[in-house]
Amino acid sequence: MAHQFSRGSWSWSNWAASASSRPTDVVLPRSDADVAALLARATAEGRRVKVVGAAHSFTDIAATDGTLVSLDAMQGLEHVEAATGEATLRGGTRLSAVAALLAPHGLALPNMGDIDRQSLAGALATATHGTGLGFTGFPGLVTRMRLALPDGSIVTCSATERPELFQAARVGLGAIAVVLAATLRCVPAFRLRAVEAPEPLEGMVESFVERSAASDHLEFYWFPHTGTALGKTNTRLDADAPLDPIGPLSRLVDDELLGNGAFALMCAAGAKLPAAIPPLNRFAAKTLAARDYTDESHRVFVTARRVRFREMEYSLPLEAFAEVFGELRSAIEGYREPISFPVEVRTSAADDTWMGTSAGRQSVYFAVHRYARQPHQEFLEHVERVFTAHGGRPHWGKLHSRNAGYLAGVYPESGRFTAVRDVIDPTGTLLNPYLRRVLGA
Ligand SMILES: Cc1cc2nc3c(=O)[nH]c(=O)nc-3n(C[C@H](O)[C@H](O)[C@H](O)COP(=O)(O)OP(=O)(O)OC[C@H]3O[C@@H](n4cnc5c(N)ncnc54)[C@H](O)[C@@H]3O)c2cc1C
Repeated sequence: MAHQFSRGSWSWSNWAASASSRPTDVVLPRSDADVAALLARATAEGRRVKVVGAAHSFTDIAATDGTLVSLDAMQGLEHVEAATGEATLRGGTRLSAVAALLAPHGLALPNMGDIDRQSLAGALATATHGTGLGFTGFPGLVTRMRLALPDGSIVTCSATERPELFQAARVGLGAIAVVLAATLRCVPAFRLRAVEAPEPLEGMVESFVERSAASDHLEFYWFPHTGTALGKTNTRLDADAPLDPIGPLSRLVDDELLGNGAFALMCAAGAKLPAAIPPLNRFAAKTLAARDYTDESHRVFVTARRVRFREMEYSLPLEAFAEVFGELRSAIEGYREPISFPVEVRTSAADDTWMGTSAGRQSVYFAVHRYARQPHQEFLEHVERVFTAHGGRPHWGKLHSRNAGYLAGVYPESGRFTAVRDVIDPTGTLLNPYLRRVLGA
């Protein structure tokens, strides 16, 4: 588990060790009724409650000095609607468990992000996404939710039943309700062919939008101080397409030694000797590449991430891609120190959520990282100026400095979100300092 609780005086910190807190107590409810009862009691007594998923947000969105609730004992598949392919999963379910739960029904998640450690409700709360212009992030898949409200009531909602509450809760930031279960629109199980290869950055930038439209799932990594992009193109195949997976030995070499172990050594060396970063990045851009394999979709979407880092990610309108990337590249190369971690560029379809980072428009995502053993704040603020100058939307679970005034300007429906929140949680049972900052509550 990413977060650790130490008994006596409770303490909590997230995966990246960028957020920590001292909850008054930690509760592991086992049933919807347990959750409802603890919310009703906390609201009546004016105490704070925060559900923590897998603590994989980089921000302090999940931090609390009140009661910390973990839904780790409330995981699993509740129901599958065979006719529609909709699957209802409990809020605490880890994404890593979903493929095995859906497989007996011939179903799969349509898309996934880079990792699968998150809880389903945590992924929804922050609008977690993968890549591909034909696919939304997790909140775009939700058709129905079962919620425990701060007053202790349990309700269901959908586009037709309590639609305003449904809209607010789909990307709820943990500020609207405790998500007990969510129904997701799934797809027939499929396999993916992955082609990963380095190529000249200039060509990737010129063709990225066009190629994103023509591919199922395209993304690229740019290693700062190099002219190389590592492109990753995943193509959807039928469930019975021949498998050609990465063998266990080469998975060990590529993912563990190069992707994690050797990369950790490179980052550590770069932190001690920054002048070594540009040559190390050139070496990495050439070495960590060129693979072609086919596997079950969830095994291709997800990779192990063991090198700890801090991350900022902004979403911008797809049309702004080339201009923003150019400015981002200049900002990174103009920074006073070389940067070891690659920039990741992905896309998403528009969705119809209120607070999703792709709400209302096709989007491009730029993710900027800093090795966890190096100070991140000054660097991230330096590059953030590029994103905010273009009206970018920060990922709710990744580091950013924005407040409610700015966010209201980039989310046209944020007023409706806060109006629902004000009614549902007037005493702020679910709030914490992060949510007060971003919502102005
Ligand atoms: C290594 C790494 C890789 C990542 N890759 C991606 C990626 O590819 N794409 C992407 O978009 N993001 C990515 N993220 C970010 C991550 O997906 C989000 O921060 C996500 O919210 C983490 O889920 P969690 O379960 O850890 O939630 P937490 O961080 O524990 O909580 C996040 C929010 O969800 C709320 N919450 C949790 N459970 C509930 C519930 N049951 N009801 C109501 N609210 C709840 C919390 O209160 C909090 O407000 C990555 C993060 C890391 C560390």
